Order: sequence, then C-alpha cells, then structure tokens
Amino acid sequence: MITDVVFRSLRTRSRLIPVEELLSTCAGSRMPEIVPELLTVPIAFRLADVCPTRAITTETRNRGELALSLDYGKCIGCGRCADVGQGAVREARQLPQCGGTREKLVRSWQVYPEVKEEEQVRPGIVRDEIYNLLGRALNIRQLDPGSCNGCEAEITALTSPYYDLERFGIHFVASPKHADMLLVTGPITRNMAAAALKTYEAVPLPKLVVAVGACGCSAGIFGSSELVRPVDAVLPVDGYIPGCPPTPAMLVSGILAVLRRNRG
Ligand code: SF4
Ligand code: SF4
Repeated sequence: MITDVVFRSLRTRSRLIPVEELLSTCAGSRMPEIVPELLTVPIAFRLADVCPTRAITTETRNRGELALSLDYGKCIGCGRCADVGQGAVREARQLPQCGGTREKLVRSWQVYPEVKEEEQVRPGIVRDEIYNLLGRALNIRQLDPGSCNGCEAEITALTSPYYDLERFGIHFVASPKHADMLLVTGPITRNMAAAALKTYEAVPLPKLVVAVGACGCSAGIFGSSELVRPVDAVLPVDGYIPGCPPTPAMLVSGILAVLRRNRG
C-alpha cells in the first residue's frame, strides 16, 4: 500500500550527503593527476597513446624538451592513464580548475629524460667527460657577490677529503684569469656589481657562468634596494643550480650539465 510506503518514509530519518565536506575535493570524479617526479619520456608517450579522447598529448618544444599536457575538458575519467602510468598518474583529490576558464582546464608538465647509465655522476665518467670536452681539468673560480655563505659552506665541502672534488677533474682556482667557469652565489649587491662584472671580464674565452642557489637564481629571500638582484641581472648565465643551499651532489651534477649543454 502506498500509505505504508509514505509512513515508512516519514519514520526513517533523512540522511543528507555531507556536501560541504566534499566541496574542496573532487573525490569520485576519477580525474587523473600527474606526479611530475615519476613522469618519464616513455611513460609520457604511453599516456598519450592510451588516452581515448586525446586529453593527454605530448609536444616537443625548444631544445628538444618534451612537454605533456592534460586537458581536463576532454578527460572522461576512464582511468586508462592511471593503469599504464606506473605511479606517474594518480586519482586527483582536488581540481581547482573547476569553474575556471577553458584555458585553465589545460595543465602542462615538462618531461625530463631519464638519466642514462653513462650519464650518472660517477668520478670516472665525469673526469673522462670533462677531459673529452676540455682536454684538461675544469677550473672554476667561485664568486660571492652577496651570499649568506651557506652556499659557500657546501662548495667548500666539495673540496674536503669527504667529497674530494679533484677526483672528478674539477679544480677551484684563485684567479679568474685561470678559470673556465664562474660559480656565482648569492644575490648581487650594488657594491659588488662592478666587481662581479670585472671578474667576469677577466675570465678568458670561452667562459661559462653558473648561478648557484636560490639567491643566485632569483635573489631568494633577499629583497633590498641595496641589491641588483639575481646573477643574471648582471652577468650572462649559462646554467642555474637551485637549492638553499644546493647539496654537493647537486653542484657536481649541475656543473656537469652546464658543461654538456654548452659543449662546442
Ligand atoms: S582518465 Fe582516460 S580520458 Fe582522462 S586523461 Fe586518463 S586516459 Fe585520458
Ligand atoms: S641560496 Fe640559501 S644558502 Fe645560498 S646564499 Fe642564498 S640564502 Fe644563503
């Protein structure tokens, strides 16, 4: 009887879905999310291959770098990308793009190639590579036009017996005239800008400049009218090593990457 149904319904307490708790999440939507640190070139191509709506695409940009784009406006939440993503794709918990413009529904990530066995930073490999590129050891002049000395502490550690940088075929030299590379730390202060420029001019050609640390890359936490700001505000920079401060391993890898990229 319909009256039984009505009475039962009236006796049962209504259960509201707690929408307010779900407002900031996209749980249940099956929208994917990329985990950039696990994204490799083969995985990126595989994701683009399996996506049935072409929501995931890859594109080769300048210098042969690969970019992966995910268009949430085309995604149907089928989950195929997560199945083949080997951890590089997971279910999104939040989707702040909801309600935004069409352009905001598209996200992009740069895909870094995997470090090949022969490119691993090992003393013998690095030494051979430096010798092949330069025909001798790499000489570096370290320049501090305004750092807090945190980066210097790590650079100094490189030369200790613990890290023993010299086995990589890398030496620090006292004069810019003997250097192949300037390793510049810290933001450049107004008082040091002219000295930094003179040091750069004293390095013989061909020369490389590496900006070290958050301060070298962007001026980091420092903001003052006494600063000229990051290293590239004064000197032409060939490569950037982030970190506050970068570890000795990051320094060696970064120095080698700059050399490789600028070979010839
Ligand atoms: S969930 Fe399906 S449609 Fe959405 S990006 Fe992944 S493969 Fe493409
Ligand atoms: S990056 Fe960090 S450690 Fe290096 S100079 Fe700046 S504040 Fe100091």
